Amino acid sequence: MTNSASQGIPPNLTTVFLDRDGVLNEKMPEGSYVTSWDSFYVLPGVPEAIALLNRAGLRVVVVSNQRGIALGLYTAADVEAIHSAFQTLLNRHGAHVDAFFVCPHDRGQCNCRKPLPGLFEQAAAQFPSITTATSVMIGDSLVDMEFGRRLGIATLFIEVDPERQSPTAASARQLANLRFPSLLEAVKALLDRCSETSA
Ligand SMILES: [Mg+2]
Ligand SMILES: [Zn+2]
Repeated sequence: MTNSASQGIPPNLTTVFLDRDGVLNEKMPEGSYVTSWDSFYVLPGVPEAIALLNRAGLRVVVVSNQRGIALGLYTAADVEAIHSAFQTLLNRHGAHVDAFFVCPHDRGQCNCRKPLPGLFEQAAAQFPSITTATSVMIGDSLVDMEFGRRLGIATLFIEVDPERQSPTAASARQLANLRFPSLLEAVKALLDRCSETSA
């Protein structure tokens, strides 16, 4: 059924790509970075949102630019430790992330810094059933929306704190298929639309 209410959301959705900073945890002020678990502030409703995705049988994949590694502000091992602690927190809520993919590079040095497609390709290599036609991308910045658009993946834009948005937020909103104030609201809408389109 072609339904304008589906807004590009695939009826046969299998994989939800999530940006990290600003979607799962509080984004640091511009120029600051999450360097350890102590500065990883999980946003309200995030464990519940991920649990809903898990229960719906959807794969949850985090794709994150971590240029701070290239800048020497923290190491890849620090990022792994943060993700491990986050996973432990999620597990206490009956939730889990299926995989984390991180770009550790500086600008212009790789194929994996969003909006380039490398992190999607890494995910598809690990989970061969991943396709662009059965995925969505949820993020809080222009690069996330461009990442989705270039791949032909439906994009959901999260505006947690409009006052802290970068000047590119207006362009990001325009590129997005749908916009929400939190991951939890995005996930609820996504699951509603999936059940509508599969009904
Ligand atoms: Mg972000
Ligand atoms: Zn990279």
